[in-house]
Parts: sequence; C-alpha cells; structure tokens
Amino acid sequence: MTYDYLVVGAGPFGAVFAHEAHKRGKSVLVIDRRHHVAGNLYCESKDDINIHVYGAHIFHTSMKHVWEYVNQFAEFNHYVNSPVANYKGEMYNLPFNMNTFSKMWNIRTPKEAEAIITEQRQVITGEPKNLEGWYGYL
Ligand SMILES: Cc1cc2nc3c(=O)[nH]c(=O)nc-3n(C[C@H](O)[C@H](O)[C@H](O)COP(=O)(O)OP(=O)(O)OC[C@H]3O[C@@H](n4cnc5c(N)ncnc54)[C@H](O)[C@@H]3O)c2cc1C
Repeated sequence: MTYDYLVVGAGPFGAVFAHEAHKRGKSVLVIDRRHHVAGNLYCESKDDINIHVYGAHIFHTSMKHVWEYVNQFAEFNHYVNSPVANYKGEMYNLPFNMNTFSKMWNIRTPKEAEAIITEQRQVITGEPKNLEGWYGYL
C-alpha cells in the first residue's frame, strides 16, 4: 500500500497534520517509536488519576479558534495555573500582580505600585541581569 504522507511522530504536531490531511482526502501513515500516541502529552490512568508520563502539561492559548479546535478531540480538566513563590518564608504570587506588590510594599492600588516602580527606575543603573539584582532596590 502506498500513502500520500508518512508522518514520523504521533505527537500533537503529527496528529494534527495527519487529521487535517485525512480530512482533505489524503492517505496518511503515522508511525512512532513509542508504544503510544500523543507524544510528550501522553497520560496514563492509575487509580483514576491522570499521570503525565513525560511531565505535566497545561494547554494554554489566547486564541478562541485554537481552543475550539482542540476541544473537538478531548474534554479538558478545569485547571487554573496560579504559581506562588516562597521567598524567605513568605508566599508571593508569580508572575507579579497587584497581590505581589501589595504584599511587598504594603500598598493597595495600582497607582501606588506605579509610583514605587517609577521611583525605582530612577536608581537602577544599566540593564538588570535578573530578578535577584532587582531585589537590591526593594
Ligand atoms: C516536561 C515537559 C513539560 C511541558 N509542558 C508543556 C506545557 O505545559 N504546555 C505546553 O504547551 N507545552 C509543554 N511542553 C512542550 C510540549 O511537550 C511540546 O511542545 C509538544 O509535545 C510538541 O509536540 P510535537 O508533536 O512537536 O512533539 P512530541 O510531543 O515530542 O512528539 C514527537 C513524537 O515523535 C516521536 N519520534 C521522534 N522521532 C522519531 C523517530 N525518528 N521515529 C519514530 N518516532 C519518532 C516521539 O516518540 C514522539 O512521540 C512540555 C514539554 C516537556 C518535556
């Protein structure tokens, strides 16, 4: 048998390509050296818990059509990624938001945060290399 396309790798890229090509009337053979599809996104269910075999994966997009596209294939868990950082025993929201500024500077409004950031800009010389350097200005 011959195919229009041979797709090497059944990860999201190969799978989407194969699906779209097939929809357009092409014949596609997908192969993978792993014993499963889904590439790095592959999960195994153990005691009704989804285990991300190759590391946890969160699907994020700001594009409605992308979100609608992937939802035709799977039901997604509702998960809100809200990481916090432990700095000297205190928990801070990351990436920075008003909660972070409020906790660091004991302020309440974006205007107060803006005023402090403007003040700090005056004393920063050169290009800060990382966040640690910036802590010197707290
Ligand atoms: C630990 C970890 C966490 C991540 N977290 C996120 C996240 O939260 N959100 C996010 O958007 N992305 C995340 N990523 C990135 C995401 O995994 C990749 O962007 C995505 O898997 C890429 O899809 P892909 O189809 O190109 O490749 P892959 O998913 O890597 O699939 C490629 C497939 O091709 C197969 N293959 C490769 N070479 C051959 C060959 N020669 N012969 C046969 N088969 C072959 C492999 O076995 C594999 O199954 C994470 C990655 C890792 C490693």
